[in-house]
Amino acid sequence: AKERGRNQHQFYTSELSARAQRRYAIEKNLRRALLQNEFFLLYQPKIALRSGRIVGVEALVRWQSADHGVIEPNDFIPIAEDTGLIVPIGQWVLEQACRQAAQWQQLMPDLRMAVNFSPRQFQDDTLVKQIGATLQSTALAPDALVVEITESLLMGDSTKLTPVFEALLALGVGISIDDFGTGYSSLSYLQRFPIDNIKIDRSFIDGIPGNRDSVALTQAIIAMAHALEMSVTAEGVELESQMRFLKDAGCDEMQGFYFSRPISAEAFESLLRQTKAR
Ligand code: C2E
Ligand code: CA
Ligand code: CA
Ligand code: CA
Repeated sequence: AKERGRNQHQFYTSELSARAQRRYAIEKNLRRALLQNEFFLLYQPKIALRSGRIVGVEALVRWQSADHGVIEPNDFIPIAEDTGLIVPIGQWVLEQACRQAAQWQQLMPDLRMAVNFSPRQFQDDTLVKQIGATLQSTALAPDALVVEITESLLMGDSTKLTPVFEALLALGVGISIDDFGTGYSSLSYLQRFPIDNIKIDRSFIDGIPGNRDSVALTQAIIAMAHALEMSVTAEGVELESQMRFLKDAGCDEMQGFYFSRPISAEAFESLLRQTKAR
């Protein structure tokens, strides 16, 4: 038994170190990726349900790795968060997205650009200053930027977070709660923070229109958001039946494969030009 215990111990340490080594390799590659500009953004349109028009766009990061091809955010954002590399990566994303939005506003003046932020980025005291500086250097109007955050951020220390949100509000930047309904935080944050928009998580949209619970929850979220004067975006809309339901339910915007997958900057631009020509 003693022998086996030792083997098991060895097994665990070697497995652990294999994982640690893999993480370390990714971390090293991520640092190099930053220096060598291996990140790029895809863009997914947000559609106003009433008019059917593009009203916004969300920037979604990808990593073009020399060794592994295109890597999806779920495979490197968690590591970037653990290592703190999400701070410089997030800054790169913000700058790129703002510059792109300023350019696209010449085609569509009221287009709003949404950028994802990790809770880790809010630990940086200079975040608001950096957002302000980026808006200025890219000549993007602050109300054209939407910051997407998840509920997990709002579970943190609200005495620290309140001034950050107030500064963002003063700047004119929009705040949107991503993956709404999947977190464990209490709803009281909706009262505590100046939130403009709620994005109903894809898991609820999946069940529409067949699942009674999904339907009830979606309707309740829309009613609550509107009562609090927030707009509502449905994410992960893949079917016409979902779009129709959401439109009838008074949901403001939709996003999802039904209208468009995340696409390259070039493809999004030609979509904008097409829309304009119509
Ligand atoms: P998210 O912010 O919730 O983004 C939505 C995800 O759902 C995207 O995956 C998008 O491609 C996908 N999606 C959109 N419409 C549909 C649909 O109709 N059906 C299905 N099945 N999926 C749909 P993606 O691009 O792989 O991003 C995954 C997550 O990675 C994002 O979830 C976000 O949390 C994170 N992420 C992406 N870019 C950034 C970034 O620049 N910074 C940070 N901090 N996180 C990012
Ligand atoms: Ca998002
Ligand atoms: Ca989401
Ligand atoms: Ca998500």
